[in-house]
Amino acid sequence: MSRFNKTVLVVQAHPDDAESWCSGTLKLLKDRGYKIVIATMTAGGLGGVDTDEEQTKIIRKKEAEKAADVLNADYYCLDERDGYVFDTFEVRIKVLEILRRVNPGIVFTHVPSDYHADHRATAAIVDVAAMQATLSNAPCTEEPMDVTPLLYHTAPMKLTGALGDPLPKPQFIVDISSVIETKMEMLSFHQSQIRLMKSMYNIDDFFKMSKEYNREIGKMAGFEYAECFWQHMSGGFETFPQIQNELKDLLEVNDEYK
Ligand SMILES: [Zn+2]
Repeated sequence: MSRFNKTVLVVQAHPDDAESWCSGTLKLLKDRGYKIVIATMTAGGLGGVDTDEEQTKIIRKKEAEKAADVLNADYYCLDERDGYVFDTFEVRIKVLEILRRVNPGIVFTHVPSDYHADHRATAAIVDVAAMQATLSNAPCTEEPMDVTPLLYHTAPMKLTGALGDPLPKPQFIVDISSVIETKMEMLSFHQSQIRLMKSMYNIDDFFKMSKEYNREIGKMAGFEYAECFWQHMSGGFETFPQIQNELKDLLEVNDEYK
């Protein structure tokens, strides 16, 4: 039996990030008995077209809560400011506190070389929190966890970094074809993002584009729709392949990691 419990905590920068990058895999894990918790660093207040920052935050938190409800997931907003997620002492402690409170066996965050600055900052903050989850000397009021959680990184749109440089080949690709409609349902609650993408980039339906992206990832492994991930492998982290084992009938592992 695995030492890692069946709670998954996703910590990402904005409402709709978890839905965009890993909600298909979250649904598959939920169906195998996992509890899902989604936290966003910000309420996405910059993402309004005809609402101010405060109004937008209220709207986007509600959208995130409704999307999380599809998985019976808890949703937390850490109320950092959209566009201004910084890796500071206070923010590291805030994330460490929620991590210890939720006590997950598995944590998802962005990939460290993500294209978006808020995502990169979030990835660094979550990396530190996961590393310090068990350390009794960390300056955190919550009790240390018994086991360092497994840390996984989600893929950004287009599998490229900030310079357009290709990201490393994903460690594994998960077949989400059976749950793609659940993913689309979760995304459909984020109507404010559809309006923003139309306004900023004249994209008619941002989430249809997201579905196409999942189709493109699927082609890398012969699946109709897929999401892909990297497990954090650096020193001090646990590297037990819990998701890879749990979903082994639904995923393709990169040869280098078999
Ligand atoms: Zn984001």
